[in-house]
Amino acid sequence: MPYTPRPTAATDAATLTGITGLAFDLDGTVYLGPTLLPGALDLIMALAGAGVPYLFATNNSSKTGAGYVNSLSALGLPADRDRVLTSNDVAVLHLRRTGLQRPFLLATPDVEDEYRDQGIEPTDDDPDSVLLTFDLTLTYDKLRRASDLIRSGLPYLATHPDLVCPTPNGPIPDCGSFIALLAEATGARPLVLGKPHASMASAIGDRLDMPAERVAYVGDRLYTDVRMAADHGFVGVLTLTGETRREHLDSSPHVPDLIVETLEDLHQRLRRTGVLA
Ligand SMILES: [Mg+2]
Repeated sequence: MPYTPRPTAATDAATLTGITGLAFDLDGTVYLGPTLLPGALDLIMALAGAGVPYLFATNNSSKTGAGYVNSLSALGLPADRDRVLTSNDVAVLHLRRTGLQRPFLLATPDVEDEYRDQGIEPTDDDPDSVLLTFDLTLTYDKLRRASDLIRSGLPYLATHPDLVCPTPNGPIPDCGSFIALLAEATGARPLVLGKPHASMASAIGDRLDMPAERVAYVGDRLYTDVRMAADHGFVGVLTLTGETRREHLDSSPHVPDLIVETLEDLHQRLRRTGVLA
């Protein structure tokens, strides 16, 4: 689909009017590695000050919710556990809903503890499913065991489809790349729970307690953030601070409702349209 310039003042008014809450991707949207992206701090402080509900919703399942609260707070962003939604949180909801309580879990030790704290029992002893996360402690033994269990026919889940994670030194292999490796080895693909899928979308609506059309979802990635917004009725805001360049939109099937250069740019547009006084 050809790219046509969208962000004019008139378009802002049509797009952002009626927004009563915002949800933000993190990597490439709010920060990159240890560095806040332009305008992030001012915008979040303004939302907090004005009492506009906001949420951080990340696919990155390498860290715990508490870990995100700590790192966001260290950057000066007002955050508590209720304002952080990770694809691990969505996975816990799915496991509870489906009665799968004993996954073979590929995850960092902290994340494994977080699952245990929420009543899930990760195990290598007669597991009832396989759950793949952004496991920064992935080993060949874990991959081999996961491959065996997937080939045996156990339900196979993954927290998110992102192929790479942005870092200050460039992209690094993420959960979607692990999915591709295991797909080559087993022929099987998992049920994916994070963005752009319905499990994450409904969890965002539930956390903000408002209908999707009232929520602006802000992210930097077309095939997760923008696609989720489009598929599930959020107002999709693409920020150009991360992965996506304007020329990528020429060949993208996923079209945002609004494109902003930075969160500073979004902040100004929210003020112009009265979402922020
Ligand atoms: Mg991102």
